[in-house]
Amino acid sequence: MKRSTPDSLKSNPHSGARVNIDTSRIDRNALRVISGLHAAGFQAYLVGGGVRDLLLGLSPKDFDIATDAHPKDVRRLFDNSRVIGRRFRIVHVYGSKGYVEVATFRAAGRAHVNQKGRILTDNIYGSIDEDAFRRDFTANALYYDPDEGRLLDLVGGRQDLDARLLRVIGDPDLRFREDPVRMLRAIRLAVKLDFKVEKRAEETICRLGHLLSEVPSARLFDEILKLFHAGFAVRTFSALREYGLFQYLFPMTEKALEDTTLQTFTSLVYGALQNTDERVRAGKPVTPSFLYAVFLWGPMRILTRQLELDGLSPKIAHDAAMQDTIISQLRYTSIPKRMSHPMRDMWDLQYRFYRKRGKQVFRLYQHARFRAAYDFLCLRAQAGEPVDRLCEWWTVFQDADEATQRKMVRAPGRGAGKTPFKSGNRTYH
Ligand code: ATP
Ligand code: MG
Repeated sequence: MKRSTPDSLKSNPHSGARVNIDTSRIDRNALRVISGLHAAGFQAYLVGGGVRDLLLGLSPKDFDIATDAHPKDVRRLFDNSRVIGRRFRIVHVYGSKGYVEVATFRAAGRAHVNQKGRILTDNIYGSIDEDAFRRDFTANALYYDPDEGRLLDLVGGRQDLDARLLRVIGDPDLRFREDPVRMLRAIRLAVKLDFKVEKRAEETICRLGHLLSEVPSARLFDEILKLFHAGFAVRTFSALREYGLFQYLFPMTEKALEDTTLQTFTSLVYGALQNTDERVRAGKPVTPSFLYAVFLWGPMRILTRQLELDGLSPKIAHDAAMQDTIISQLRYTSIPKRMSHPMRDMWDLQYRFYRKRGKQVFRLYQHARFRAAYDFLCLRAQAGEPVDRLCEWWTVFQDADEATQRKMVRAPGRGAGKTPFKSGNRTYH
């Protein structure tokens, strides 16, 4: 369907202004779906982060399409598609390189907000204007029609984008109360895009951060992965603390960072985040269990110390502290089991690294989590914890040939086979 725009409509935001976007950066499947919807007489646009990133000259990581077609129409038009979502139904249309998400224009109705202003459901279809206004930031509410090469800007997003300003659509107080996760999104996007958060929103975030404690822990977990695994973990962490939001995600970590008896902890966290950023940028895999093991290491050590002072043996104190720290964190951000197990292993291995004699060394070396735990040990050493010689031993061990390794684990003289257990500054034989 050819939809030319008369000149008289040029100033109308609904007709859109021509923009120069390199369409080769757009997923072919997204282009195909948009053209298909147009051909069937529907409106269809690329929207959200994809458009924003294209205008900024970045390569978008996902492409979202907004349309006035109903999910069942979309499903009918494209063979390889699937309707998903119970609350709000969207359609995934598959191409050769994954899928694009097609959502029907929707409105954020006040009737669906609870007494505290929180959005409960947002499954009412609406006009494109309503669809734009229910989005979070102006730069995220631009609609691009690749067939016409036009950009629809219903909220002044283009100007903000050019000024590198993250501006909330509407009243920040209202919009952050509706969905407190938008505060985390503000920080994440500002850091990632190198945007400034508008003043009004900044002030509101500092005032309403506490609302994050009411967000379901599973949703916070998802958001945490986006915050720390996008290649900007160091800057995101600093910004979250600056705006006072980090304390609502990892309250025990925040306390441990302020604990002056645990000075190396801050260095450990920064070292680990820097390491994560380097890995992400190098395209290496990263795991949330490592991040959690680092964030909760400080609180876990503080608790171990306390339990030891209460008279528990180091081993029992350590086991209890690990268990307790993980359970306490669950109240704030959920930790899937597939993550808490490796995390415990990584912690446990920190203690087992002290046993450098006998066959058990080779068993430890074969452990599925050896590499991650060893990296963690090195980070602790770099942060100034008194484990540098231990770290060195394990580095030498790994580089050695088998004959040398056997020599290294042979127990010298008396005390052969004994395995000292170290906790804090004490070594137990
Ligand atoms: P990213 O680059 O991380 O993907 P994004 O802005 O594309 O950033 P998505 O989670 O992919 O983030 O969301 C796509 C779009 O949906 C956003 O650009 C925004 O328009 C809208 N959106 C997402 N989350 C919210 C929210 N919590 N409140 C309002 N609008 C939202
Ligand atoms: Mg996106």
